[in-house]
Amino acid sequence: MPYFSNSIQYISNLLGQKTLLSDETSIIEVLAIDSRKIINPSQTLFFALKGQRNGHDFIPELIEKGVKNFVVSEEKWLKKVYDANFILVNDTLKAMQQLAADHRKQFTYPVIGITGSNGKTIVKEWLFQLLSVDHHIVRSPKSYNSQIGVPLSVWQLNDTADLAIFEAGISQPNEMDTLTAIIQPTIGVLTNIGAAHDEGFTNRAQKLEEKLKLFKDVGLFIFQKEDLKSFKKQLPGKQQFSWSLVDNSADLFVEKMERKTNSTKLTALINAKEFSIEIPFIDEASIKNVLSCWSVLLALELPFEQIKHRMKELAPIEMRLKLRNGINNCTVINDSYNSDLGSLEIAINFLKQQQQHPRKTLILSDIAQSGIPSTELYKKVAELLASAKIDHLIGIGPEIASQAGVFKLDKEFYADTASFLENFTNARFSNETILLKGARAFEFEQISKLIEQKVHETVFEINLNGLIQNLNYYKSKLEPDTKLMAMVKAFSYGSGSFEIASVLQYHKVDYLAVAYVDEGVELRKGGIKLPIMVMSPDVSAFEGMVKANLEPEIYNFRILNELISFLLTRNTKEYRIHLKIDTGMHRLGFLEENIDKLITILNENRHIRVASVFSHLAASEDAAEDGFTQKQLDTLLRVTQKLELGLGYSFIKHICNTAGISRHPEAHLDMVRLGLGLYGIDSAVKNNRQLQPIGTLKTTITQIKELEAGETVSYNRRGIITQHSRIATVKLGYADGYSRKLGYGNGEMLVNGHRVPVIGTVCMDMLMLDVTGVECKETDEVIVFNDELRVEELADKIGTIPYEVLTGISQRVKRIYVYE
Ligand SMILES: *Cc1c(COP(=O)(O)O)cnc(C)c1O
Repeated sequence: MPYFSNSIQYISNLLGQKTLLSDETSIIEVLAIDSRKIINPSQTLFFALKGQRNGHDFIPELIEKGVKNFVVSEEKWLKKVYDANFILVNDTLKAMQQLAADHRKQFTYPVIGITGSNGKTIVKEWLFQLLSVDHHIVRSPKSYNSQIGVPLSVWQLNDTADLAIFEAGISQPNEMDTLTAIIQPTIGVLTNIGAAHDEGFTNRAQKLEEKLKLFKDVGLFIFQKEDLKSFKKQLPGKQQFSWSLVDNSADLFVEKMERKTNSTKLTALINAKEFSIEIPFIDEASIKNVLSCWSVLLALELPFEQIKHRMKELAPIEMRLKLRNGINNCTVINDSYNSDLGSLEIAINFLKQQQQHPRKTLILSDIAQSGIPSTELYKKVAELLASAKIDHLIGIGPEIASQAGVFKLDKEFYADTASFLENFTNARFSNETILLKGARAFEFEQISKLIEQKVHETVFEINLNGLIQNLNYYKSKLEPDTKLMAMVKAFSYGSGSFEIASVLQYHKVDYLAVAYVDEGVELRKGGIKLPIMVMSPDVSAFEGMVKANLEPEIYNFRILNELISFLLTRNTKEYRIHLKIDTGMHRLGFLEENIDKLITILNENRHIRVASVFSHLAASEDAAEDGFTQKQLDTLLRVTQKLELGLGYSFIKHICNTAGISRHPEAHLDMVRLGLGLYGIDSAVKNNRQLQPIGTLKTTITQIKELEAGETVSYNRRGIITQHSRIATVKLGYADGYSRKLGYGNGEMLVNGHRVPVIGTVCMDMLMLDVTGVECKETDEVIVFNDELRVEELADKIGTIPYEVLTGISQRVKRIYVYE
């Protein structure tokens, strides 16, 4: 048996204190940490990490799926008789990092390491665009730059590549040493130093010093001159190269910048010689990122004509996957900016999570620049599609077509995009989720134009990563066996039903709750299998409720009796209900004095099964009312005790909403009901940095005009112009959910990063902004609220709460879901 460095024997010698190898011939291709994302089980090495969830808990399930190799930190797995390999280590994350660092040592080609406060991923992706013509490049997928992402990225290094580009991100002191040991860069790029992640450090200088550790052994270090101006110590690197927009002593100094409508011409002095390039961007951040890239191209000695030509072709980086509404009730994921195995894998995992339609379709072009032979490459793609249960493949390009035989699913192939378009009819696609994944040269935007629905330009963008982050934050506040019910009523607080529910299901919440039967039925249609509680079950909707297996909240004798008579007409053996107890909110619920009668009725109807008993807190966020909250809790506990005795079985007990979870750990009981917190807002903890507001409401400027003092704007001439002004009309009004109370300078929006006031009266579908002095043009984006201009601020201004603002966003505003 040859002793390859990816053989299980080598790896266990490297890492293990103790091992149990039942198959010593295993070869490892893939490292994995997420039990839901296993593609090639027999060649996967699974690291059981202890994070939000304990990775060890998934081992039996993974063995069932065919995974054979595990790195664990719990000794008991080595005793169990599983037909698998176990390597015991102290710390599974450290072991993964150590393995990656060892793997890195086997390659001698250049490795570019990138860090900085902003722009890491863009610079990395642009370098990939700029250099993939002459190199086979391994790079970090998406923004894999963390303590976990970096080892997973570096593991991809292989013999066919000849250049690697990795990014490193840190949020705390001492994290960089680990990443440096894994990446071992030969060329270092510091994009810039800004405020991001300041909170983890005592000061900016400490953060800078920490970041510079990445470059301690590089041959060449590239940076922006100003960033290190006040840095007193020795700069890293055998050689340094600086760029600047203001300082003519930099190695690359931009002496002239000519902005046109959609492009910028940059003229720079390099070694006292003048060079000009043109780039298809005009914003400052893009210009700075281009300068980092330009410096790297110089270091790699790319001829100037090549640099010039390639810079002109730079394409924007879409780092996030977006779900959009398509034609004929389809959903479209448009990820047609690049195409390589790593990013295909990420996009397919996202597709796999989508349950809203019965059918999943992938439109895929030839995969560019992988360095792996076609037969091997498309065999891997075919495995990926099979593991994600994709139903239909449309392959576009000569290479993928030549490998048609390996794909075992409904499939068709075209030589190029044009021939696919010739055969395109609207009717071909309906009620399916379509992933578009193509290399740039295939111009898939021609396809996306046809299959995406045109959107009204006001959109509510929902960040699904933020949702997951918020969910995990609250989970971390719970005891491990406390259950979690996610409140997705009112269209998930305005964020959309099944898209949100589908993410929550994937991330394994225990229960969902909706307000009405219809909402629950919609979720079932979208493939949601979780138990669902309905809080206001109308008698007229019982039929649909039973059919969809929804569990009603029963709050008084009338509705209980209605349910009993309804169930008499069926032959139901067991029907699960939730009893609502009124402990002081005085909205819905049985009172304590009703409980004896309730027990009697339930005992006469044993086919009705109480799944849970709960109450709702009236003032969980308010410290002044903590006495009242305690009384509510005591009442619920008395009532549930009585019910358990009377019924002879136990059930789930719950009382906490979001603020209750934060403020009353003693009241978590068996389950909590998480609502607003999921969407990033917690009225108990203002400005909680660990929560992420997930919604961004945005619109666009439709017209701009210049007005003179004395003129007026909008209805009843309420917006008075006092000086020469620029006024922008935007496509959003009170019919979209933007309150009229935000008119007359009260409300503000963000235009290109600047706050501008609303002027005059808010109209039904439009309003006007005073954009005097702010650089902007027609069709520019306008932010109504996001994580900076927060929905809480808007709510405060009009004397209401974020719940009302979020749920008031009209249904005609399209929801777009993004996933980073
Ligand atoms: C809406 C609701 C919740 C969630 O409240 P948040 O404050 O949004 O967390 C919990 N329980 C019941 C009964 C609700 O109606």
